Amino acid sequence: MEKCYGLIGEHLGHSFSPQIHRMLGGYAYSLYELAPDEVAEFVKSGPLAGMNVTIPYKKTVLPLCDTLSDAARAIGSVNTVVRRPDGSLYGDNTDYYGFIWLLRSAGLDPRGKKVLVLGSGGASLTVQAAAKALGAREVVVISRTGENHYGNLERHADAQMIFNTTPVGMYPEVDRAPLSLEGFPECCGVADLIYNPANTRLLLDAQARRIPCAGGLGMLAAQAKAAAELFLGQEIPEARVGEIVRRIERQTKNIVLVGMPGCGKSTVGRLIARELERPFADTDELVERRCGCTIPELFARQGEAAFRALEHQVLAEIAKESGMVIATGGGIVTNPDNLPLLRQNS
Ligand code: NAP
Repeated sequence: MEKCYGLIGEHLGHSFSPQIHRMLGGYAYSLYELAPDEVAEFVKSGPLAGMNVTIPYKKTVLPLCDTLSDAARAIGSVNTVVRRPDGSLYGDNTDYYGFIWLLRSAGLDPRGKKVLVLGSGGASLTVQAAAKALGAREVVVISRTGENHYGNLERHADAQMIFNTTPVGMYPEVDRAPLSLEGFPECCGVADLIYNPANTRLLLDAQARRIPCAGGLGMLAAQAKAAAELFLGQEIPEARVGEIVRRIERQTKNIVLVGMPGCGKSTVGRLIARELERPFADTDELVERRCGCTIPELFARQGEAAFRALEHQVLAEIAKESGMVIATGGGIVTNPDNLPLLRQNS
């Protein structure tokens, strides 16, 4: 009988995991939303030969495992469980491997550095363990309710690396950031575990200051590769992680055509959208729909400022989506507030 694998969690929504595991091993991989009282039975005697575990069950499954990897034991959470031939359960934490891959691939080396880890949840424990294992000089956790919080960040203005493990800035609340990098003049590396949007506000802040940085998609793919190796009992080449990241980015990033009236951006945009079977949006059309008149009429009645304000509004709404083709007027790039909107996912 074919072995089946899957992801368990409470609310899974859209997940890249089935797609990533299809690329890694081609085995059957499904999503299982479980209520808390269903987890133990499912993990111990369910149909899966191996599973990944996500929020909020990474700690729940730890005592259900008969053996643990050193990383899972040290971190205190399990994100991959494998059922061995004798029926016993082996638990590992491949997020740990995934985060280390992310840092290495982005050239972020915490050795000898002071590191801030934002958030104190499950992923924070993994990131703290990885930063320490890679030789960080000091690791400080910033927590809304901890001794070090967002109200006294100036204590840690000498931080050299900042790793975000909070969900702040994640879709759909893409205009939020856990902190500004303004107060961290020595910061030389930023990692954000969020992968939707591709570039969070925190990452855009880092890019604007030319601080090397990385988003969470590489970690997701690398932890899946490590999980697939456990499922299949064989090594998978490291290069597969980069291939998966590139393929998902190609599917999810927006294509934006920016041009002056009459240049063909809407016609070409529509053709690209049809060819790639993606949704298409034209900011000028959306503005006209919203104000109930044509753009020349809007200019004549309320002036360019009113048009630019509406254009910014509609761009904020559509540019946070993924996998779109978007046509916009040439003037959109003259408003600096539009640039992060365009860059976050395009
Ligand atoms: P979690 O256990 O819920 O922890 C998140 C932590 O973030 C909380 O403990 C909290 O810490 C902080 N937080 C929550 N809401 C906040 C808010 N509104 N403002 C400021 N801080 C807030 O979740 P997790 O499993 O650690 O995951 C955290 C994030 O990492 C999620 O976005 C998840 O998708 C991502 N993740 C990505 C990967 C990947 O492969 N890329 C892997 C694992 C997790 P305090 O209460 O201490 O402030």
